[in-house]
Amino acid sequence: MRKLAAGNWKMNGTAAALAEVQALLAAHPAPACDMLLCPPATLMSRMADLARGTALRIGGQDCHAAASGAHTGDIAAAMLVDAGASHVILGHSERRADHGETDSLVNAKAVAALVAGLIAVICVGETEAERDAGTTLDVIGTQLAGSVPDAATPDTVVIAYEPVWAIGTGRTPTLSEIAEVHGFLRARLTARFGQAAAGMRLLYGGSVKPSNAAEIFAVPHVDGALVGGASLKAADFGAIVAAL
Ligand code: 13P
Repeated sequence: MRKLAAGNWKMNGTAAALAEVQALLAAHPAPACDMLLCPPATLMSRMADLARGTALRIGGQDCHAAASGAHTGDIAAAMLVDAGASHVILGHSERRADHGETDSLVNAKAVAALVAGLIAVICVGETEAERDAGTTLDVIGTQLAGSVPDAATPDTVVIAYEPVWAIGTGRTPTLSEIAEVHGFLRARLTARFGQAAAGMRLLYGGSVKPSNAAEIFAVPHVDGALVGGASLKAADFGAIVAAL
């Protein structure tokens, strides 16, 4: 399957940062992998304008489970589509921590995303305490079962494994630890979705940078990356795209 280099800008970037997108597109007009950037909502339509007709896809960082209504500050999935998005990140650990998002809420958001025609990038990952306690696979298995909707297909859902302790820290799991979790994710998805699971992309996220991208992408069942800090600079994200 074609790999996916996804960038999550989180709460970073104003209009000036769009110059990085122009630089990325100029340097990588025909990348060998799929390319996705998820900017803050305030930049989405302007980034989508830049991406039109290019290989770059645009995604949201969250959506509401409802189609519309009295939810001040929230964004519906169809609004992301309207602004130019094809994807949406759901259940990122920062949203689970900052906004108390549960597996069932993430599942409901994913259903809303699929109804709107978005591809849901659903995040799972253990904390450092959970890894130290030896419960990593239990935690991830529970998150996966609860957060991924029954309607998931390879065309509509991407899973991102992001160990919480590796996000923004410069620390990463060993390659064999990544292989263990990704193999586990594939097995769990196969048990639930059968052969379709073979086509579901599994991204690794957490301190991916140009210097470690190639070795991480060589791990079995790693079908791409979800990149935070290193997606903000065209040179860094471009090097990761090139490593895929
Ligand atoms: P960093 O790449 O900055 O560690 O962030 C990873 C992440 O959370 C992407 O969603």
